[in-house]
Amino acid sequence: MVVFACARCDAVLTVPVSRVALPAHTHQHYGHELMPLLVEPGTYAVNPEHFGAPWRRWAEFSEEETGARGVFAPEFSLPCGTPGAVAVAPGDTRGTVLIPERSEGYCLGLSGGDGPNVACARCGQEVATRIDDCGYWQAVWLVPDAVRRLDVDVPEPPVASWEELARERRSTPPVDPAGHWDARWQAAVGMALAHLVVAADGRPVALPGGLVTAVFRPALDVLLPQGPPEREVALVGPGLSGVGRSGAGLSGVGEPDIALVPRHPQTGEPWQPAGGSAVVPLEADVWMHLAFHQTHPLPPATGGVPLDVLRDDPLPPHTNHLFWADARVFRHTLARLPAVRRPWLRKIYDSAPRGGWLR
Ligand SMILES: [Zn+2]
Repeated sequence: MVVFACARCDAVLTVPVSRVALPAHTHQHYGHELMPLLVEPGTYAVNPEHFGAPWRRWAEFSEEETGARGVFAPEFSLPCGTPGAVAVAPGDTRGTVLIPERSEGYCLGLSGGDGPNVACARCGQEVATRIDDCGYWQAVWLVPDAVRRLDVDVPEPPVASWEELARERRSTPPVDPAGHWDARWQAAVGMALAHLVVAADGRPVALPGGLVTAVFRPALDVLLPQGPPEREVALVGPGLSGVGRSGAGLSGVGEPDIALVPRHPQTGEPWQPAGGSAVVPLEADVWMHLAFHQTHPLPPATGGVPLDVLRDDPLPPHTNHLFWADARVFRHTLARLPAVRRPWLRKIYDSAPRGGWLR
């Protein structure tokens, strides 16, 4: 495993951590409450893009500059901090102090709006930005120039094979303890939808039934034209054979037009299907649930459960609320796919809400 150390004085700034993929909900701002950790304790993720202050308005960049950054549709502004910031869990940092003068935030915590707010306790160098304000997934973002990665003598967890992941079937339930759709699902589906509208090529799609339809259909009804489906979407990945096909008037055999595949939780690489399907990556913890943990509602018993019976364990498998995918994550992802330059996709991008939900 590795630790991160101060680049100036060599003080060790984290516990040993191992790398995981940057989560789909990294760019999600959700609600008005304290959020959980962005990455699990003992892990780190790297954001390959520029990160944090200073920010520059879109109009100040040339098209060449934005293209070089891999952003192909306009955003209000772009961060200009050094690319490659490293997210760790706040409890995994060591030997750091907060910089009181940099404590910008909206209400419940720090937003990092005025640059790095964490310094090395030994030498005082600015080394990180802690973000824990309401609505932000909590993380300490190490400044890539200010830290060094050092190998330590702690065995690294091996990169899991797809077969192991399919055997474990580790997944995030779609409903949170409060009975709402889980925010990570809303972000994961928002990210997948950006790839899905590109793969659909402006045509109506058929979805497999059950929860896949419940979470993708509401946004697709807004984003894609209505009509008889011309392309078929199916779950494809490790441990599946022919499961998840819609049979909605399309072939139902052979390779689907669009394969909804898992994205590896450690490497971030999507599963590669054998055939020529267009690939739509989906966070593995959500994909595993869709592939292996779907439950089918039973017919209600007469009279149902009495109102005074509390049923908080286990969590309900579904909620009656319509699923709303995260619009910010959708736009963030779509802006980084070169296809968004096509006029019909650009129209979808321009008409999508800048925050909130796709509806
Ligand atoms: Zn230092």
